Amino acid sequence: MKPWDVVAVGGGILGLATARELLLRSPDARVLVLEREPEIAAHQTGHNSGVIHAGIYYKPGSLKAKLCTEGREALYAYCDAHGVPYERCGKLIIALNQAELPALNELEHRGRENGVPGLRRLSAAEIPEIEPHATGVAALHSPSTGIVDFAAVARAMAAEIQSLGVTIQTGVAVRSITCHGATTIVSTSEGDIPTSRAVACAGLWSDRLAQASGDDENPRIIPFRGGYAKLKPEARHLVKSLIYPVPDPSLPFLGVHLTKTISGDVWLGPTALLAPSRSAYSLKEFNRFDIGETLRWPGTWKMARRFWRTGLTEMHFAARRSAFVEACAAYVPSLKPSDVEPGPAGIRAQAVDRSGALLDDFAFGTAPGVVHVRNAPSPAATSSLAIAKLIADRLAAS
Ligand SMILES: Cc1cc2nc3c(=O)[nH]c(=O)nc-3n(C[C@H](O)[C@H](O)[C@H](O)COP(=O)(O)OP(=O)(O)OC[C@H]3O[C@@H](n4cnc5c(N)ncnc54)[C@H](O)[C@@H]3O)c2cc1C
Repeated sequence: MKPWDVVAVGGGILGLATARELLLRSPDARVLVLEREPEIAAHQTGHNSGVIHAGIYYKPGSLKAKLCTEGREALYAYCDAHGVPYERCGKLIIALNQAELPALNELEHRGRENGVPGLRRLSAAEIPEIEPHATGVAALHSPSTGIVDFAAVARAMAAEIQSLGVTIQTGVAVRSITCHGATTIVSTSEGDIPTSRAVACAGLWSDRLAQASGDDENPRIIPFRGGYAKLKPEARHLVKSLIYPVPDPSLPFLGVHLTKTISGDVWLGPTALLAPSRSAYSLKEFNRFDIGETLRWPGTWKMARRFWRTGLTEMHFAARRSAFVEACAAYVPSLKPSDVEPGPAGIRAQAVDRSGALLDDFAFGTAPGVVHVRNAPSPAATSSLAIAKLIADRLAAS
């Protein structure tokens, strides 16, 4: 078999965006995308909040700050060019009390440092101008935040790169990627595939593939289930765009928010519960192997000791929908438990290191001819086109 120039593992938004970027740089390159599931965008790319983040939260100078702000505008331009529906609807981050003001100030500072356009501080009286049913003591308005269906973006990318000659094979699981001199062997469920270079964007399974390919076992992916509730159609008027809390700065999650989706629904969530399986979309699903791996990782226990209070709150939210709705009603007081119905769920691939720290920034592992994405949680979908450029640069330098 003639070796491929590049094999990209994973038919999520990162694998597809990277295959696209590599092809744009070398239009004659033979590029193959391998996806284990029968279809693309089957995991995080197809199960998320659908928010095009503006870049407010991230530490200035971090990869998240740089790639989110670059990726956001690139994504809007991509959607314009490829007819993917989106809405630049803006969002409010609301402080509920005086105690949250220092953290809101820090977010405003970060947003300005990161060059987020149009940020505006609102007083309590100004909040209803943007969200008539919301309340708080102050807020930050970000007009450049938007919404999109990331699975639709991924499908547009897949169609585009296929029309340019990229081959996408679904139903093929990659077991390892190993370098043998100038050739890299991608070992799969369908046999070995030779290539010059490879990139692994395996999301929830990225640590396993990296380790099987000789990369460090640290960090591990710990799956966090994010459950949503949906507003019933008659209650959707309570939320015009996006309402977010001031997040806990010790966690890489943004907290339970109220999110309008591009299909017109309003979602409440996501929660952040340690998941018993890397594909636990249903609460009944568990996988002994996944549980064993999570429990054997020393970082899990250290993380649990540090965040046990947060864990208990999340379990309470998962067990009692009314408690979860009450938490959201702090932002929208007229919201009642009877306004909501069950919604979808997504599983976050969150890297946790041996010391129990949840990796805050995007992380990559590089070996000769191979780049492994090791941590690409939110806002990686927003940042996908910018992350693809970074991966292509690293691959060229590897
Ligand atoms: C609940 C939730 C809410 C989120 N909200 C947002 C948001 O609002 N905005 C935002 O920007 N980001 C958000 N994110 C994050 C975003 O969805 C992810 O960062 C992004 O989708 C990651 O893309 P990916 O391609 O790396 O991973 P994935 O989409 O998970 O794709 C990885 C693919 O690799 C395949 N794969 C894995 N192992 C193998 C193998 N061995 N062989 C072949 N194929 C393999 C998988 O089947 C999968 O299709 C959210 C995520 C979650 C879970």
